[in-house]
Amino acid sequence: MTETIKLTTDEDGIALLTIDTPDKSVNVLTEAALGELAAHIETVATDDGIKGAVITSAKETFLAGVDLSLLAMLAGLARSGKVAEAYERAFQFNRMLRRMETCGKPFVGAITGLALGGGFELMLACHHRIVADDPKVKLGLPEVQVGLLPGGGGTQRLPRMIGIQPSAPILMQGKQISPQEAKEMGIVEALAPREKLVEDAKTWIRAGGSAVRPWDEKGFKIPGGGGQFNPNTIQIFMAGSALMQEQTWHNYPAPPAILSAVYEGHQLPMDRAIQVESRYFTTLLMNPVAGNMIRTLFLNKQEAEKLKRRPEDVAPSPTRKLGVLGAGLMGAGIATVSARAGIEVVLLDRDQEAADKGLNHVQKEAEKLARRGRMSEEDAQALVSRVKATADYDDLKACDLIIEAVFEDPKVKADVTAKVDAVTGDGTIFASNTSTIPITLLAKASKNAGRFIGIHFFSPVEKMPLVEVIRGKETDDVALAKALDYIRQIRKTPIVVNDSRGFYTSRAFGTYVSEGIELLSEGVTPALIENCGRLAGMPMGPLEVGDQVGIDLMVHIYESLSAELGNSYASDAGDRVARLMAVELKRPGRKTGQGFYDYGEKREKHLWPGLAEHFPTAEVQPHPVDVEKRLIYIQLLEVVRCFEEGVVTTPEEADLGAILGWGFAPFTGGPLSMLDTMGIARFVEECEAMVKAYGPRFTPPDLLRKMAKEGRTFYKQALPAAAA
Ligand code: NAD
Repeated sequence: MTETIKLTTDEDGIALLTIDTPDKSVNVLTEAALGELAAHIETVATDDGIKGAVITSAKETFLAGVDLSLLAMLAGLARSGKVAEAYERAFQFNRMLRRMETCGKPFVGAITGLALGGGFELMLACHHRIVADDPKVKLGLPEVQVGLLPGGGGTQRLPRMIGIQPSAPILMQGKQISPQEAKEMGIVEALAPREKLVEDAKTWIRAGGSAVRPWDEKGFKIPGGGGQFNPNTIQIFMAGSALMQEQTWHNYPAPPAILSAVYEGHQLPMDRAIQVESRYFTTLLMNPVAGNMIRTLFLNKQEAEKLKRRPEDVAPSPTRKLGVLGAGLMGAGIATVSARAGIEVVLLDRDQEAADKGLNHVQKEAEKLARRGRMSEEDAQALVSRVKATADYDDLKACDLIIEAVFEDPKVKADVTAKVDAVTGDGTIFASNTSTIPITLLAKASKNAGRFIGIHFFSPVEKMPLVEVIRGKETDDVALAKALDYIRQIRKTPIVVNDSRGFYTSRAFGTYVSEGIELLSEGVTPALIENCGRLAGMPMGPLEVGDQVGIDLMVHIYESLSAELGNSYASDAGDRVARLMAVELKRPGRKTGQGFYDYGEKREKHLWPGLAEHFPTAEVQPHPVDVEKRLIYIQLLEVVRCFEEGVVTTPEEADLGAILGWGFAPFTGGPLSMLDTMGIARFVEECEAMVKAYGPRFTPPDLLRKMAKEGRTFYKQALPAAAA
């Protein structure tokens, strides 16, 4: 078997443990690597010829943490009732690091780069730490972001090293720090150039560095104080607890578990403290949140980024020169992220002035990146120089990919498509960034519908990680491969869906806003609606989302839908309320400062008091749980319909698209993970009751009824709903 950690010993009797995960660019602790590490620690501890050890990496990264599939496996174990086994296996990591810490020989971390999660904890368990002096290196404990806590002593060693308060953002928010910050905080003892790390570490051992940690000596006190009667500590635990719940709406079990592990553990000797930590770690493994978050936000995301959906038989075709049509909000954003990835961009609009406006946006974004230290001044200038603003279609001649982001009007889109066709060759792929118009319909304007595809970005383009790729009926594999290769170049996460009005994301997410409006029109108080949306884990209430999207845009969508469906179109509350707000009351949303909310300077906002006059409040208000259910279940139903109709074709993409695209409650792991977790039979039953209470839009799709009857789940191995 290939080894991950190599042990060599020099003539002075200093061992060197070099981590080098085979076939991976980044080191991770797999089960096998953990076994090797434990064996090497035992060798150092027991071999009289070895004085101490240096732990380093053969790669520029030090250690990215414990393999997430291993954590997902432990979560599966805990949730299938094997709790004691899950605890024992989780505790092994703690036991091994404690053995290293107390074996009497000094261990030094020579940290070449990135040290996260278990990698950071391995570093904390060493007796001395020297880190590469490189501001790009990241150190931290991101476990909280996947519903877990640092289970390798992180919740105990960090507070003992730097104090409880300074540890909080690193432990509870997953805040990452640079080597310089770590040194200032007292987490690492020294910085050094990469090539000197191992030598400096050996020098420290030769000079007789101590193999005893401060907390294993008599009279140890936590920096800044600790204990249940210390006024500072009480303040942190009490106020910290309230603050944490305000931010997480009680939806995330990890932050309170971390706080509890620190509170209880810091008052105990280390050997007991790590047991407390492992117990809290196991309770988190038992909770569905961790397994679901790891699966969607890490494992599925990684698969999507490795382009799992790319047709294998098409040769790689990175984009060299990109044409962007429309230099508005979206077009300018697309130009920015593409130029940042090193792609030449031609940014075209109706006239030079409009195109220059887009270029101005690119310039501002580049300056922002330089100001924030994300790139050098020269790189920012080079980014801008890669974008050419123009109104001349001839400039598009050499482009191998075109992305259209002009007005959301099929006629305008057809016009620019024909103009592009007139100047480009057959090899050029044409993509539309439309948010709602079917790709198959837009492709009719192209002379080559096979090379026509949807590449749907989200706003703001610079920030949003997801890109939805839409296959029209005739889109061929070459176009799909080109779109996916391009998305990899700009470092975003793709999902691939089939054609439908609104595709997958806009369609499913629209139901959240329309249900919010439905509630408003029934006389539910706007504050209750908005708070229930957030309580359910959505980043904003549905009315605020309506304002962000633009109520006028909603009117526009209703109009085109009614034109398309003719007599069979039935206007609903969403349609009526949107027209009232945007057309009659001239409150189209965020962009004018007036919508369901009034917006003031900076980020000030409050619900518009006039809503009470137009939507009189009902005397009896619903229970918040019922409001939450309506807002979430309506989305779940639309996601299932998209799946049933083959718009979205895998549970992985359905969940990833929901969380990254429209911010669907991340702690659920996505809509289909949520359904598997709660049980499809229970969901179907609840929906049937909701049909009676609220109307036929809650009718469960046939697919769900069938799955409920057959006891099936969306994922092949659904994670069991509850532990014990
Ligand atoms: P926008 O109004 O900000 O920009 C559109 C740009 O297209 C303008 O600069 C306009 O001058 C230009 N334009 C119009 N007709 C043109 C023509 N014939 N030739 C060249 N340029 C022309 O709009 P936007 O918000 O950037 O949206 C653009 C597209 O992206 C739409 O299809 C929209 O549905 C889609 N989209 C928007 C969002 C969003 O949140 N705004 C999100 C995803 C997709």
